Amino acid sequence: MAETIIYAARKIITMAPSRPEVSHVAVRDGRILGIGTLEELASWGDYRLDDRFAGKVLMPGFVEGHAHTMEGTLWRNVYVGWFDRMDPDGRVWSGLKSIDAVVDRLREAEAQMTDPEAPLAAWALDPIYMENRRVTRQELDQVSTTRPIGILHASGHIMNVNTRALELAGLMKPGVNHPGIPLGEDGLPLGPLYGPDAMTPVGPHVGFDRALTDCDERGLRDYGKLCVRAGVTTCTDLAARLTDDSVDMMLRVTAEDDYPACIVPLRVFFGMSAEEIVDYCVSLKPRSTERLRLGRIKAVADGSIQGFSARLRWPGYYNGAPNGLWYTAPEQMSDLYHRALAAGVQVHTHTNGDQATQMALDMLEPALKAHPSPDHRFTLQHCQMADAAQFRKMRSLGMNVNLFANHHFYWGDEHYRLTVGPERACRMNACRTALDTGVPMAIHSDAPVTPLGPLFTAWAAVNRITASGRVQGEAERISVSEALYAITLGAAYTLHMDGEVGSIEVGKRADFAVLDSDPTQTDPMALKDIGVWGTVQGGRVFPASAL
Ligand SMILES: [Zn+2]
Repeated sequence: MAETIIYAARKIITMAPSRPEVSHVAVRDGRILGIGTLEELASWGDYRLDDRFAGKVLMPGFVEGHAHTMEGTLWRNVYVGWFDRMDPDGRVWSGLKSIDAVVDRLREAEAQMTDPEAPLAAWALDPIYMENRRVTRQELDQVSTTRPIGILHASGHIMNVNTRALELAGLMKPGVNHPGIPLGEDGLPLGPLYGPDAMTPVGPHVGFDRALTDCDERGLRDYGKLCVRAGVTTCTDLAARLTDDSVDMMLRVTAEDDYPACIVPLRVFFGMSAEEIVDYCVSLKPRSTERLRLGRIKAVADGSIQGFSARLRWPGYYNGAPNGLWYTAPEQMSDLYHRALAAGVQVHTHTNGDQATQMALDMLEPALKAHPSPDHRFTLQHCQMADAAQFRKMRSLGMNVNLFANHHFYWGDEHYRLTVGPERACRMNACRTALDTGVPMAIHSDAPVTPLGPLFTAWAAVNRITASGRVQGEAERISVSEALYAITLGAAYTLHMDGEVGSIEVGKRADFAVLDSDPTQTDPMALKDIGVWGTVQGGRVFPASAL
């Protein structure tokens, strides 16, 4: 018979309604055999007592319901973001506050490169913090005129390149006529490239040579390290292409004995018809394993609010910017919902603007009438601008929501003064309204857009502090215990996985986040600073210090 290990901890926060706090948890075969006192658990038979967590607090392993494993791959490029950020090896890279600082960091990286032809790639630039100023090719030429250089923005939708990169792509000539490629006074491309159309021809020359949303083998392993450091044991990959090769790779890597997380990739609704993607996901589902869950779809209705590409209802953008873009047309969304409901395939839909949310609601209602589907758990992802009436509609349609709580901190000030204005900025990511309305709710990071870290995300939902230190939308704050539920069972529910993860209860997978202190006894303003010792996933122990 398999060995039973009983872990003693300072406190175990179980999220189990009948026994919310215990001192011991017994694990056998990677599953939870029981929770309670040592005496109660000893009656299961021979055991080994493990007290390495005696000074720690255990919670259910965190479930990140909206992130992208591509972050693992991005870290092989130079980080040039505005905020401090930890890489998979635990090094904290300081945030850069000026273009000069970005150029300096690129120069340092360039000095260490041995191959003179190799491209220099960087990521996470966000000029919205620098008066939205454009970075020109001449500025990047200060780093090198002979080596191609490319910087991907935090949003993933814009790239800055130097002169050499434009030459290699054949764009260093007058007469380039493309809305995504602005020209300088000399008639030559200025350096920024907007949108996939403009970025794709240059990307391969600057080191972004795959479809950006795909994660490679080393990236998937590095992503696993980020999960351990953040206390995450189940993580989505919310817009994967899931080619045959990438599915094979993900199956192989996640099956390795020391792979520390369960990954849930959703096939993005792009480049396939609704009929094809539903059939494809039906065929993928049986290939699921303990650590790779296949068979779900992600649809994208609109763009991003800070990029002014989200679809807003009247009165539109606060600064008068024109309305955003439909990434998926309403008719296509309708077709997808009908077919997915008929086939029993779950769809998560990205909607940022409130018009996009309305479109998803309007398309789902008739589809549900045609294909009644109890417990479908179709989930709106981001859903940042939904108002109270839309939450009521979500509840009556049986929908879930996964709100982008981190946005308050990262872009809250910009939403207030620039994108949607004060009133709508205060109702963004309305966690309180969602819960009060009875809509099942999760909260997320959208890593790599913001860093993976459910305790930070919980902090953001509880405090709603912007980067400048203001509380924005006081009435939409939630309690610490509600936020802890959202990052465990709340997210598990949106994935139909609440029966196997998200709480510490008998029969569930032995997945724990191991914390240095107790989030329920911490000043809510310090939630984000709680140390994560590591994780236990499927009964296997992963200390962050050993990564
Ligand atoms: Zn995303």
